[in-house]
Amino acid sequence: MRVLLVEDEPKLLKTLSKALKEEGYAVDTAKDGDDGLYKAQFTNYDVIILDIMLPGIDGWEVLNKLRKTKKTPVIFLSAKDTTQDRVRGLDNGADDYLIKPFNLTELFSRVRSVIRRAANEPVPKLTIGPIVLDTLSRTVNVKGKRIPLTGKEYMILEYLAHHHNKVVTRTELYEHVFDDQEDTTSNLLDVHIYNIRKKLDVDFITTRRGHGYSIEG
Ligand code: CA
Repeated sequence: MRVLLVEDEPKLLKTLSKALKEEGYAVDTAKDGDDGLYKAQFTNYDVIILDIMLPGIDGWEVLNKLRKTKKTPVIFLSAKDTTQDRVRGLDNGADDYLIKPFNLTELFSRVRSVIRRAANEPVPKLTIGPIVLDTLSRTVNVKGKRIPLTGKEYMILEYLAHHHNKVVTRTELYEHVFDDQEDTTSNLLDVHIYNIRKKLDVDFITTRRGHGYSIEG
């Protein structure tokens, strides 16, 4: 799952970006509205965390422009704390609105919630065949046995699980599990898929030659 964080306060940007990475997300950042909008339009993020008071175009305008072409979930994160602001945000197409100062635990919970809604998953536990994926604890069980996956392996599996019964192309997977700081020129994805298959030890991820991967069930 890949997050775009648009925030002009350097310290908050750094802290939040680090915390989200520790939660397993691929994170891109933007320090102003224009860069944020540019990135949001050209990359398919799973969630955008958007400040409102920004240099250049503000968060309201970023959202308005983005909504003309994209449905990417947006969480406003703002010191603007009136009911009027929150209503304006949600009525203009934001998916959630969190007021600064905020609690990290709550932000993470809201991020998971919008990701579930976007994938039409009502509950945090996904059961597909013999596999149970818990998106709260980020753990995977096969037939009741916990499978130790790395953060990146878990993220690949969660992305495929949210899109089960669909073919996920390699380009799409690269876009959603690696951020713009990571080297994606190698066969990194193949290595991760190989390791996930080996660890799960069940025939779970199907390769669609020339298309991508899928999970059936
Ligand atoms: Ca700001």
